[in-house]
Amino acid sequence: MADRLPLIAANWKMNFTIEESLKFITALTHELKAAGNVEIVIAPPFTALYSTGVALSETPFKLAAQNMFWEESGAFTGEISGAFIKDVGCEYVILGHSERRQIFGESNEMIAKKVQAAIRHNLVPILCIGETLAEREARKTWNICENQLKTALSSIQLKAIENFIIAYEPVWAIGTGRQATPEQAQEIHHMIRNWISKTFDGATAQRLRILYGGSVKAKTSREILSQPDVDGVLVGGASLDPVEFAEIIRSVPQK
Ligand code: PEP
Repeated sequence: MADRLPLIAANWKMNFTIEESLKFITALTHELKAAGNVEIVIAPPFTALYSTGVALSETPFKLAAQNMFWEESGAFTGEISGAFIKDVGCEYVILGHSERRQIFGESNEMIAKKVQAAIRHNLVPILCIGETLAEREARKTWNICENQLKTALSSIQLKAIENFIIAYEPVWAIGTGRQATPEQAQEIHHMIRNWISKTFDGATAQRLRILYGGSVKAKTSREILSQPDVDGVLVGGASLDPVEFAEIIRSVPQK
């Protein structure tokens, strides 16, 4: 794994009140006396961002939002801008999650606008890409992933890509209990890195962190994290239990 700092991210989705979020952070810090050489990112729902951010400020953990809108302000009822999530202390923002694409109809073009807005606000995008089961079975996995990357990154400059994080999250693996095999993940991660190398440059591709997401559990994380192009994991369901999430963090191979 070149010199890339492993990253373990929790996507809490639409779970946890303020009180539950704070309880989780207390439990996680208690579980993890020493986390080792790993970056930990927590993405609570919008309503718990501020309070979780305050709690995280006494820890090395970082704060992420699960989504944002591309406009700066104005008549966009129900939306949250990059400035707002920056204001509550976010350093990261998850963009293009498959639930946003599938349930809320976000297109690659909409995600591209969000990516650009995140960069304007100095937020690190965790850009999610991945194919559905039908697409995998039709052998279109790479076509779909490449198209998602191409559109989302179409007007991104080399300098901005340096801080990017890409999460390969096959849709068929999210919340299904069916994790991709380490070999399936490695194959696509390697293709993503090659694509970044071809489209931007080789050194940037070597620095860029690529996470795997989709039904990661403490029992399975070590093997997937041992793949050469897997630089961390984005965890949904299993990130709601601080004991299990801490175990996933501890399973990062230490070099
Ligand atoms: C996710 O929501 O990004 C995710 C990977 O979910 P799960 O771990 O529950 O499959």
